[in-house]
Amino acid sequence: MLGHASKILVRSRFAIAFTGAGISAESGVPTFRGSDGLWKRYRPEELATPEAFKRNPNLVWEFYKWRMRKILEARPNPAHYALAELERLGILKAVITQNVDDLHREAGSKNIVELHGNIFRVKCTSCNYKENLKESGRVKGFVESRDLPKCPKCGSLLRPDVVWFGEPLPREALDKAFRLAEKADVVIVVGTSGLVYPAAYIPYIVKEHGGKVIEVNVERSGITPIADVFLRGKAGEILPELTELVRGLR
Ligand code: NAD
Ligand code: ZN
Repeated sequence: MLGHASKILVRSRFAIAFTGAGISAESGVPTFRGSDGLWKRYRPEELATPEAFKRNPNLVWEFYKWRMRKILEARPNPAHYALAELERLGILKAVITQNVDDLHREAGSKNIVELHGNIFRVKCTSCNYKENLKESGRVKGFVESRDLPKCPKCGSLLRPDVVWFGEPLPREALDKAFRLAEKADVVIVVGTSGLVYPAAYIPYIVKEHGGKVIEVNVERSGITPIADVFLRGKAGEILPELTELVRGLR
């Protein structure tokens, strides 16, 4: 199976990756649907919504600051590094991710499309103010503060610049992802349940355009029925092996 997948990749003209929360699980970032995905007595799906934020911004910010702290402690794992290496080798042309944790960037991937935003960015609920807290060097103080964050431009409440359940995806990122998927002749799908739309269309678009689907997951997903190769196992173990095989074949 691994051998077959590595041959598909080496022969490819335009390979892309499509990743979900599962690729970061081995970095210690909890998935939403996983068993350790619980936070207090709330389910993340109930907090990551515009309604929850309207009802109780303090609770939602408490949840997001907890997630930011967890993600700040996390390092990329061998799966993130393997995808960055495949890009350096010229095989992988882009990583489309549903993750908000910035770990692909930390691992050295360059062409990244973030479909669900980035947890280290905030945006104003009233005006067009946006800030990347990592770039402005404010992230430490921000996560430690117990106050609700306010916009420095207009004083309104700030919110995380992530896509909540029930919200549309950022237009530019989605367009770019769909264009990449139409062009791709291979997609490596890693650690996603394939249940969150429209992101989950990506592998289907590749397939419809005649491309191949290689999937890495610890269990079957909504993508598995269209996978040409299903590699069952941990992303942090499978992807480095796959990359090693690809290197050997070139
Ligand atoms: P998801 O729908 O992508 O499901 C996680 C998938 O990863 C499952 O199919 C699971 O079988 C698989 N998986 C778990 N551990 C794995 C491993 N070690 N190797 C390979 N596969 C593994 O993600 P979700 O948790 O249901 O989250 C839904 C949405 O919430 C995401 O699309 C994202 O926007 C957001 N989210 C992001 C992060 C993050 O940035 N790291 C974390 C949680 C949730
Ligand atoms: Zn503002």
